[in-house]
Amino acid sequence: MITFDHVSKTYPGGNHALDDLSLHIEQGEFVFVLGRSGAGKSTFLKMILREEVPTEGTVVVAGHDVAQLKKKEVPYFRRQMGVVFQDFRLIPTMTAYDNVAFAMRVTNVPEKTIRERVPYVLSLVGLENKQQSYPDEMSGGEQQRVALARALVHTPQLIIADEPTGNIDPELSYEIMELLTAINSVGITVVVVTHEHELVRRFRKRVITIEKGHVFSDTPAGQEYAGGVEA
Ligand code: ADP
Repeated sequence: MITFDHVSKTYPGGNHALDDLSLHIEQGEFVFVLGRSGAGKSTFLKMILREEVPTEGTVVVAGHDVAQLKKKEVPYFRRQMGVVFQDFRLIPTMTAYDNVAFAMRVTNVPEKTIRERVPYVLSLVGLENKQQSYPDEMSGGEQQRVALARALVHTPQLIIADEPTGNIDPELSYEIMELLTAINSVGITVVVVTHEHELVRRFRKRVITIEKGHVFSDTPAGQEYAGGVEA
């Protein structure tokens, strides 16, 4: 699903964000990408989303070499993935229903399909009773679940979560992680970027640690993550 082959990224100005990073994530895997601030995690995600391209090496996502994609192909490429951010990125003037529906409306999905799909994805994340609530009427955990529902509307093969529990208290964080686990159990690849060691220890998934732009350690699922770099 995701292959980084000797990828380096140097930003204009000379910052080396990634340095000869290689890794492979299979379809259907659940992977934590762990690293302290400045390690290169955001740059790693931006490559997957094709917001940045490598300076050296190749990045292949869902069969596409991202650097080879034409500009007009990028929106279709991105639609294969759902993205969840630390700050939720909901539209404050829209209800939960409309926040999710909006993601479909911008891609010209027929209104009839939207009326069926939106309640369904909101029920998947346990928000069937909050469809008409606005973001400021919901807890952080609920807002993140709306964001997760929005990420699921296009039936993605891949969910990318960038510090998804960064703005949520610990108990609700575990609920979000349980939901991501449930999403993964139907075959969707899940990549969670985080600096939270506790979260990573608790879930016993594969943990790829990035340090100074390259893979510092790669612990398989089921093994206890032993720590390493302090995030
Ligand atoms: P993380 O997400 O792990 O905090 P980043 O990928 O944001 O790491 O950053 C890795 C390195 O690249 C840092 O040294 C950062 O300052 C630098 N960097 C990130 N984005 C840019 C940019 N747009 N321009 C220049 N340097 C950048």
